[in-house]
Amino acid sequence: MAVHHGADRRADPRRETLSVNPFHAVADPAETMETVPPVNRLPDGPMPSETTYELVRDELMLDGNARLNLATFVTTWMEPRAEALMAECSAKNMIDKDEYPRTAELERRCVAMLADLWHAPDPQRAVGCSTTGSSEACMLAGLALKRRWTRRNADRFRTGARPNLVMGVNVQVCWEKFCNFWEVEPRTVPMEGERFHLDPQRAAELCDENTIGAVGIMGSTFDGSYEPVEELCAALDALQERTGLDVPVHVDGASGAMVAPFLDPGLVWDFRLERVASINTSGHKYGLVYPGVGWALWRDAESLPEELVFRVNYLGGEMPTFALNFSRPGAQVAAQYYTFLRLGRSGFRAVQQAARDVARSLAERIAALGDFQLLTQGDQLPVFAFTTASDVSAYNVFDVSRRLREHGWLVPAYTFPANRQDLSVLRVVCRNGFTADLADLLLDSLDRSLPELRRQPGPLERDEQKATGFHH
Ligand SMILES: *Cc1c(COP(=O)(O)O)cnc(C)c1O
Repeated sequence: MAVHHGADRRADPRRETLSVNPFHAVADPAETMETVPPVNRLPDGPMPSETTYELVRDELMLDGNARLNLATFVTTWMEPRAEALMAECSAKNMIDKDEYPRTAELERRCVAMLADLWHAPDPQRAVGCSTTGSSEACMLAGLALKRRWTRRNADRFRTGARPNLVMGVNVQVCWEKFCNFWEVEPRTVPMEGERFHLDPQRAAELCDENTIGAVGIMGSTFDGSYEPVEELCAALDALQERTGLDVPVHVDGASGAMVAPFLDPGLVWDFRLERVASINTSGHKYGLVYPGVGWALWRDAESLPEELVFRVNYLGGEMPTFALNFSRPGAQVAAQYYTFLRLGRSGFRAVQQAARDVARSLAERIAALGDFQLLTQGDQLPVFAFTTASDVSAYNVFDVSRRLREHGWLVPAYTFPANRQDLSVLRVVCRNGFTADLADLLLDSLDRSLPELRRQPGPLERDEQKATGFHH
C-alpha cells in the first residue's frame, strides 16, 4: 500500500469537509446537509447509507477507466456470474478453515490443479497455498529457500556469512523487497546489448556457497519475454558438477505460469525440471480473477521447511498455514475455482490465445508505422515493448505516453535498468477484455498523434528517469 502521511497538506486547506449533493441528502436533511462530513477526521455521527454510498461512489468516479489501462497485468473484467459469486463470498475468511471448510476445500483443489498443470512429479506430494498475490507468494518461496540454506549452512550463517539470491536485474520489485525485508544480498545479472533478461551462464557465475537460490521469470515485467528457465537449470547442473554447489531455482510465473501451459505446452520451464523447487503465479493476472489472489507451490514437502508452517487452534481445528497475513478474503479463491471450472484447459487456451493474437498483430502494426522499433513481438507473454526508431529525434517515448494519455490510454514509458539505462521504452499489456477492436482504436490514437509529435522541435519530456508506473 502507499504510505500515507496523515492529513494531505497539498489539498485545498479550505476543503475540510465533503460536499453532499442535496439530491442524496434525502433521508434527514437536518443531519446530512448541515452536518457535512469532515475530510480528515472520523465524523461525529452516522449518515444515511444511501448518502454515504453516493458520496463514496462520486469520489471514485475520477479513478481511471480500467479497460483503457494497458499498463497493468491485473484482471479488470469478470463475467457477472463470477461477480455474483464473489459478492456472496465476501464475508468468508480464508484463515477460518474450520468455519469455512468448503472454501478451504476449493483452495486445496486449486492447488492440486496447478500442481498438475505445472507437472509436479507427484501431485499428491506437491504443497501449496493461496496468497494475496505473487508478491506474498514470492516472499514465502524466498523464505523457504533461505531457511533451507540456513539449515544446511548453520555454522557459516552463525559466523556471519550473508545469504544471497541470484536473478536478472529485470526482476519485479517484489524480489528487491524480499531481499531488503529478509536481509538477503541481491545478486543481479545486468542486461547486455539486445538481451533484456537473465543470462544463464552469467547467473551461474554469480553463485557461491552462500546462494540460497536463483530466480527465473516467466514473463519479464520489462518486456514480456520468457526467461530461459531450462537453460538456467542446465547452467546450474553444470555448476554442481564442477563445484558441488546445489542451487535450487524458483520460477516467478506471476503472468507466464498461466499462459505458457496453454499456449506453449512444449516449453519446459516448470516442475519437469528437477531443479525447480517452487513456482508462483498471480491468480489476478492471467489467472483471470479480480485482485488479490496469488498461488505458491513447492515441488514436494522437502522443499518447504516444516518449521515455517504454523498450526493454530484459535479458530477450532488445526489447519497448517503458511502466509504473511492471518485473515484474508475467501471470495477470490472461490472465484479462482470458478474460473478453473468454467474455462477448463481449452477455455484458458482460447482466452490467452486471443490476448496473444491481439498483442502480435498490434505489435506488427505499430512497427509498420515506421517510427518505432519493437523490443519484443508479443509472442511470449501477450505483452510487448517498443521504442522510437533510431532516426526519430523530434520526440521520445515519454512524449508518446503523454499524447496517448490525452486520448484516454494509459501506456507507460520507462527507462531500462543496468546496463541499458540508455534505453527507454513503451509497454503494452494485452489482457482479456482488450479486444481487437480496442487495439484498432489504440493504433488509431497513436497514428493520429504522430503528425504533431513529428513536428516537435525535440523531446518535450526531457527527464528520462521519470518513468510512469509500470511495475504491475
Ligand atoms: C506482477 C508481478 C509480480 C507481483 O505480483 P502481485 O500479484 O502484483 O503481487 C511479481 N513478479 C512478476 C514477474 C510480476 O509480473
